[in-house]
Amino acid sequence: MDCLFCKIIAGEIPARIIYEDDQVLAFHDIAPQAPVHFLVIPKKHIATLHDLSETEDKALAGHILFTAQRLARELGCEEGFRVVMNCNEMGGQTVYHIHLHVLGQRPMHWPPG
Ligand code: 5GP
Ligand code: ZN
Repeated sequence: MDCLFCKIIAGEIPARIIYEDDQVLAFHDIAPQAPVHFLVIPKKHIATLHDLSETEDKALAGHILFTAQRLARELGCEEGFRVVMNCNEMGGQTVYHIHLHVLGQRPMHWPPG
């Protein structure tokens, strides 16, 4: 499958990996938008948030979120941070393998662009 993040999971494309287990991978974003900016992805290929299944993927979705919570703390974002999951072109998604962005160590503004 021609998916950039599946290639990172397979080790075919290098990434600065922060955490890995049998279900998820977390790695630093190649173009960080904050002093801390990493992505948490499922190892299962799921193209967009629309494709996440409430029946099959509920535990996985929780694991992605709690991995983000724990790593944010470990990387010094106790004061606060932002999580974002862009969905489809209208939502700003560019890589079609779901990923939770975690951004921290700078003030975040609202509304986002
Ligand atoms: P999206 O726009 O789909 O929400 O986010 C995709 C993210 O993946 C972007 O923040 C982009 O910088 C990051 N990204 C794209 N290609 C690579 C890559 O090869 N390695 C890493 N580590 N991040 C990437
Ligand atoms: Zn993929």
